[in-house]
Amino acid sequence: MSNSSTLGRLAAAVRNVPDFPKPGIQFKDITPVLGDASLFAASIDLLTAPFQPGQIETVVGIEARGFIFAAAAALKLGCGFAPVRKKGKLPWQTLEASYDLEYGSNTIAIHTDAVRPGARVWLIDDVLATGGTAAAAAALLQKAGANLIEVAFVIELGFLHGRAKLQNLPVRSLLTF
Ligand code: AMP
Repeated sequence: MSNSSTLGRLAAAVRNVPDFPKPGIQFKDITPVLGDASLFAASIDLLTAPFQPGQIETVVGIEARGFIFAAAAALKLGCGFAPVRKKGKLPWQTLEASYDLEYGSNTIAIHTDAVRPGARVWLIDDVLATGGTAAAAAALLQKAGANLIEVAFVIELGFLHGRAKLQNLPVRSLLTF
């Protein structure tokens, strides 16, 4: 199947849930993609397409839905996986980064030994919205000394201009709404 028809199937499978988790948010629900074996596999094929096994050392996924795509991509490329989690969830020593939300702030963390300094690391999340989460995760990886190769998303909400927070980094999304 061609990439464009796969992307069409992917776009059609993403479920738009209005007013979740709060009024005014259009939640992009990727569970129908995960529930379809061929679409899930196709999404991992498209995400990993630019890379060959051996080109990436660690795939990093952002809690929680980023874990799913990042772990599958890591298996496909034969490399390790590392989680970026909300502060307080990881059991060992961590590096942390905070970012502003509309109201308040969030802190995310990664284990200090999750990535090797100088390692070629690839960062994945399901959705790029305002870009705050991914920018903080990228900052964490750079603090850890990683060589961040790309930040990839299944879905980008283009109207929120999250890419602007990821300047100087290669950013790729399978679908842009
Ligand atoms: P942001 O920091 O605003 O780019 O938000 C990105 C994070 O929030 C990602 O981990 C997404 O899983 C989640 N997220 C934000 N907005 C949405 C949305 N409209 N639909 C689904 N997930 C979202």
